[in-house]
Amino acid sequence: MSTQYEAVIGLEVHCQVLTASKMFCTCPNEFGAEPNTNVCPVCMGHPGVMPVPNKEAIRKAVAAGLMCGCSIPNKSKFDRKSYFYPDMPKNYQLTQYDMPFCVQGKIHISGKGFSGNELPDKYIGLTRIHLEEDVAKSTHFGTSTGVDFNRAGVPLLEIVSEPDMRSADEAYAYLTALKQIMQYGGIGNCDMEKGQMRCDVNISIRPVGETAFGTKVELKNLNSFSAVHRAIAYEIKRQIIMKESGERIVQETRGWNDDTRESYLMRTKENADDYRYFPEPDLLPVNFTDEEIDEIRQGLPELPEARRNRFVNDYSLTPYDAHVLTLEQDISEYFDAAAKSSKAPKLVANWIISELLRLLSEAKITVAECKIKPEMLGEMVNMIDSGAINGKIAKEVFADMFENGKTAAEIVKEKGLVQVSDESAILGFVQQAIAANPDQVQQFKDGKTAVLQFFVGQVMKASRGKANPKSVIKLLQEELSR
Ligand code: ADP
Ligand code: ZN
Ligand code: MG
Repeated sequence: MSTQYEAVIGLEVHCQVLTASKMFCTCPNEFGAEPNTNVCPVCMGHPGVMPVPNKEAIRKAVAAGLMCGCSIPNKSKFDRKSYFYPDMPKNYQLTQYDMPFCVQGKIHISGKGFSGNELPDKYIGLTRIHLEEDVAKSTHFGTSTGVDFNRAGVPLLEIVSEPDMRSADEAYAYLTALKQIMQYGGIGNCDMEKGQMRCDVNISIRPVGETAFGTKVELKNLNSFSAVHRAIAYEIKRQIIMKESGERIVQETRGWNDDTRESYLMRTKENADDYRYFPEPDLLPVNFTDEEIDEIRQGLPELPEARRNRFVNDYSLTPYDAHVLTLEQDISEYFDAAAKSSKAPKLVANWIISELLRLLSEAKITVAECKIKPEMLGEMVNMIDSGAINGKIAKEVFADMFENGKTAAEIVKEKGLVQVSDESAILGFVQQAIAANPDQVQQFKDGKTAVLQFFVGQVMKASRGKANPKSVIKLLQEELSR
């Protein structure tokens, strides 16, 4: 019998913090500026300069920790991590070593995984979250390398998980949940393509039933969540093949090439790096009173998970619809506002999921740029709910609203689209359809009741889509059964 293996995965995620200025100087913290324009002696590491900590970044680090269920120690400090590389001319990075701002958190994952399989409902433990300064960005051009110091000194959170994940799907779900929390909390945008979120994966395998961990391999150069998923799946296979052929897995750092879909050796790491951490002498330790921590806790926004539960409970959404509508914070807020202004929140959810999201992606715009404001969608859905317009007409109205920003009531009035519910008017169309199609009438009388749909179509066509479908069916059944 061959051995069954399970993967053990822990993630180290870096997330840039949204602040007006950098971590230890007053340079702007902005993405996309001309290289080396947002710089000063502090973030370029000139000798003799003094760092001044950014209070907003520290407050956001604590908020991030509270949102991830961490404890916030009353005392923290910054440390120097020594290393030598052109992205850090002062030869040390300001980070936190043994007294981080946040310890021992957890992140919930559940629902359908990236591969379509159901995830186990579980918590992924967080070891710690600490705050540090980002380093300069190196870009390689053939034989030379450019260094951009705009990124140097940007506040950066490092979120270290426990080795609690067991599959690529779980890691993907964890990253999704983490990114959502950071976005909902206004901590960071977490756009991996812009380098605002970076992820290193630690991964080992062990025989199922074994409790000790195997030797881990670290994967780097992961540029999207789906690349993380692919890299993990690949690495699990690679390690199993090694084990089965009797090879020893050594602790090493590997890079991921998403074009060839293969990992490659970057360096072996038999001994721990010696960073010679020591407390930063130019910065005072940071102290928080319980009252200060509570005050930050009071200011936290509603978290994605709480919002999903509220959508299910208050608006009777399915867990899946609630999941889709909370993936992006701006969409969840749009839905919330539209649902509040409507008598049929479930129908509002359907319109957003099946129509609005599609139109937004086709037009390549965000929901903030959308001309249909939430209350306008709520109004349109109320018109469907009350029978003033039917679903088919509503599609036409909705497209017009999206294009021109008019309200549903305006469009319906302009185009004369009000649904005809007056039965005497509909009866006229019904009788016409019956008179014009004797063959189908005979089929109906012979018991082929499916032909009713044909008549519904005829009546809807004759009424230019305006007849109330419920009345149409009722009148057709009455007339055909005569
Ligand atoms: P290092 O000393 O190499 O930095 P840490 O113990 O600090 O290692 O862990 C770094 C990351 O690796 C954490 O996210 C942790 O969960 C994960 N990790 C630790 N040991 C293993 C293992 N055997 N297999 C997979 N992941 C692991
Ligand atoms: Zn600066
Ligand atoms: Mg470590």
